[in-house]
Amino acid sequence: MSIDARKIRLIMSLRRHGVTDTRVLAAIERIPRDQFVPQTFQDQAWEDTALPIDQGQTISQPLVVALMTQALDVHERHKVLEIGTGSGYQAAVLSRLCRRVYTLERLRPLLLDAERRFHALRLHNITTRHGDGTRGWPEQAPFERIMVTAGGGREPPKDLTDQLAVGGVMVIPLEGDWREHRIVRIRRTETGLDREELWPVRFVPLLPDVPAVADERVRTA
Ligand code: SAH
Repeated sequence: MSIDARKIRLIMSLRRHGVTDTRVLAAIERIPRDQFVPQTFQDQAWEDTALPIDQGQTISQPLVVALMTQALDVHERHKVLEIGTGSGYQAAVLSRLCRRVYTLERLRPLLLDAERRFHALRLHNITTRHGDGTRGWPEQAPFERIMVTAGGGREPPKDLTDQLAVGGVMVIPLEGDWREHRIVRIRRTETGLDREELWPVRFVPLLPDVPAVADERVRTA
């Protein structure tokens, strides 16, 4: 089957599973997922499945990327923070829908690969940083939107909610009563945080700190 045929099949499947936002579907169609997955899994790049990437991490399932992006309700003028760059796929999808994406990753080799992809695809509105995402990116705050793509904890990291603009939205996998993850949408109001549980999901863990010495250099793809 050709890539185009696989692509169409994936888009139809996303629609069937509740992805109705045509801007999100268009972004998924336009970002070549095959360029974000390792050579060995090329034949599955357009399947609706999570796949292994380097460093024991994963590129999320397209349905999860699409539903989380839809839940984030991103607009053209928004400045978006993403935690957990991984392959860079989610950041690339977001970059088609907003003004600028700031994305943080704690594993440098993954970040370097993602930066190469952003560059090759001319996604110039993505800024990357190696560091601990639970601290957020204070120099660029506040953000209208924050997406966390690693799971952990029962509460969102305080630094992240502090960096959310009033009226801003965060989508994050949090632990439920049985340590299972669910996607939660948090909205910052004038007086506090509104919380809405969306659906259950499985994610690689959100870990504190970076493995080596943190290098806080900022790069723009
Ligand atoms: N968004 C990615 C998938 C994320 S996998 C994609 O589209 O491919 C989760 C990623 O979060 C992993 O790469 C992991 O290293 C990273 N991560 C986990 N804890 C982190 C933290 N505290 N700060 C930054 N990145 C973190």
